[in-house]
Amino acid sequence: MVAGSGTMTVEEIERVTVLGAGNMGHGITEVIALAGYDVTMRDIKRELVDDGYGSIEWSLEKLAEKGHLEEPPEAVLSRIDLEVDLEAAVVGADLIIEAAPERMALKRDIFAELDEYTDDAILATNTSSLSITEIASATAHPERVCGTHFFNPPVKMDLVEVIYGAGTSDETAETCHAFVESLGKTPIYVRKDVNGFVVNSVLGPFGDEAGWMVSEGLYEIREVDAAMVFQRGYPMGPFELGDLTGIDVGYHVRKEAGKEVPPIVEEKIEAEELGRKTGKGYYDYESGEGADYERGQGESVDTLRIEARMINEAAKLIGNDVATPEAIDTGLRLGAGFPEGPCRRADDLGLDRVLEKLESLHEESGAQRYEPADHLRELVESGRTGKAAGAGFYEYGDEREYATIETTLEEGLLEITLDRPERLNALSQEMAGEIVHALDDADLDEVRAVTFEGAGDRAFCAGADITGFAGIEPHEKEVTPVHKHVAEFPRPTLAKIDGYCLGGGFELALACDLRIATEGSNFGFPEIDLGLIPGGGGTQRAIRMLPDARAKELIFRGDHIGAERAAEWGLINRAVSESDFEEIVEEFVSDLTSGPPIALRKAKRVMNRGRDADFETGLEMESQAFGLLLGTEDVAEGTAAFSEDREPEFRGE
Ligand code: NAD
Repeated sequence: MVAGSGTMTVEEIERVTVLGAGNMGHGITEVIALAGYDVTMRDIKRELVDDGYGSIEWSLEKLAEKGHLEEPPEAVLSRIDLEVDLEAAVVGADLIIEAAPERMALKRDIFAELDEYTDDAILATNTSSLSITEIASATAHPERVCGTHFFNPPVKMDLVEVIYGAGTSDETAETCHAFVESLGKTPIYVRKDVNGFVVNSVLGPFGDEAGWMVSEGLYEIREVDAAMVFQRGYPMGPFELGDLTGIDVGYHVRKEAGKEVPPIVEEKIEAEELGRKTGKGYYDYESGEGADYERGQGESVDTLRIEARMINEAAKLIGNDVATPEAIDTGLRLGAGFPEGPCRRADDLGLDRVLEKLESLHEESGAQRYEPADHLRELVESGRTGKAAGAGFYEYGDEREYATIETTLEEGLLEITLDRPERLNALSQEMAGEIVHALDDADLDEVRAVTFEGAGDRAFCAGADITGFAGIEPHEKEVTPVHKHVAEFPRPTLAKIDGYCLGGGFELALACDLRIATEGSNFGFPEIDLGLIPGGGGTQRAIRMLPDARAKELIFRGDHIGAERAAEWGLINRAVSESDFEEIVEEFVSDLTSGPPIALRKAKRVMNRGRDADFETGLEMESQAFGLLLGTEDVAEGTAAFSEDREPEFRGE
């Protein structure tokens, strides 16, 4: 980069420096090197740098063992330089990411020094709670300073908050955003420097309101945790989460922000029972069983109290132009593992209901924490009360917006991406419903084939979302319709499998006509370990596709098998290397989308139906279909193209 030529663009970023080789610093360094950049990692002592480097080596080794690396670990390591001297570490860097301890004075010193050694570099901080504006004011160029808040551990967590300080230029934030994307991570903009940024702001009331509810003597700790997990699908209960992150951590953040703290939190702080790290918090991890709440507890818990407060926090962020509903929802799904974003959930609940809940709590207690956000009031007053009304935080027009899948239609191919990477694309009820909708909605004049794949790089789909089914009686559980819909869709379907393909996800893949997987992929039916059996057609498809003994081995033992064995057994069409994957899929897809639609539809139907019929009936179905096809224009086109020695152009007529 030539000095003084303006703001750095992402294309100009070649060399990155990370300051700090601790928890976050080494992880961020690893992610950057994995993406192909040259990166220098700096800490204040040689041992600290070496420790961080050792952690990166260990992590890369693990990734390689699981087949997640496209090059040997040494190749990634060769892009990492280690430094102790600050000047040597930062001179010539295009982007510097600071991940030193969370102390304002220290960060300001570091940024002031960086200012001396750099000209055009973008200076980013990984702080999780300090003001970006205040850090930036230690430099003469606050426009080049930005927050890039990675989540722990960076290698696994997909989310990065890109935060504006008061002086941050759009160019700087945009370059950081694009840089995060180039790492294969998902950035969200936090457009103002608010305390807690997006994820922690919305997450705050999750534990806080739970604390008030228990402090008021309304419920037991276990009841609240059980209700939030089993009824509302959160990955952990609020108290369980508090124990994991440390009760003191949330306590200090709230105290510093001048907020009231629920008495139960005060009690834990006084007793020095801070969570897992002290062996005891809300639960006992030494002499007790840890977080031992159970399904069925807390049926009467008013979960809306907690959710209304999180939604209120989201509404404040939107009303103050800090973030969009999409950014907030992405943030909470990827950053906190929420089953769906708070704005999406609010639209389902009804914003009028949420507002009413806040107003009544506010009236009863007079506490400021329940004061409804202006934006929430405005939405309700203008009739935007949620999905049922056609609009809430989001618009719901004729074009349905999906929350858990993404669809694209191009050149006859409908691509359906299972989009919950934070849950390894687990098949929730909502996702099942959206897949069915997308297939029902498909215009068969346009769609010639469908592919299914998983978002992120770890899973096709790791199974049915157990938490999503909680609270629903078994006889109401309707997973099968999605599998049936896929199996009977009148166009060829192909599962593109890269990573875990388990349980309900495996069943989804088996419901497709064709399956191509990367060699590192994994298949299995773990249901038996839960005391269950597959419920989406898995037992029946397995026993029809495989010899008896193999099908039963899969279902009875619940073990995983690799892609090569799956191919050898005939469960998938091909097991291919990561590098050949897209190309081979493309070869299959191009045959499917350019093939004769009516003939493919008939072939699929007679083969699927014939499989379960006796041979004679099957032959009859075939000959009927054959007779019907003879009268189609596609056959005329196919034979003409054959004699004219050209590619046929089938139109499905
Ligand atoms: P850590 O204590 O594990 O690592 C910090 C490292 O920075 C230490 O090795 C320390 O020696 C080093 N250091 C101190 N002064 C330095 C300097 N002048 N230059 C370079 N290195 C220096 O802390 P951490 O957990 O990695 O956190 C780092 C930052 O990331 C903090 O701002 C923290 O708030 C933020 N963060 C942490 C997490 C988390 O879960 N740990 C998550 C998101 C963000």
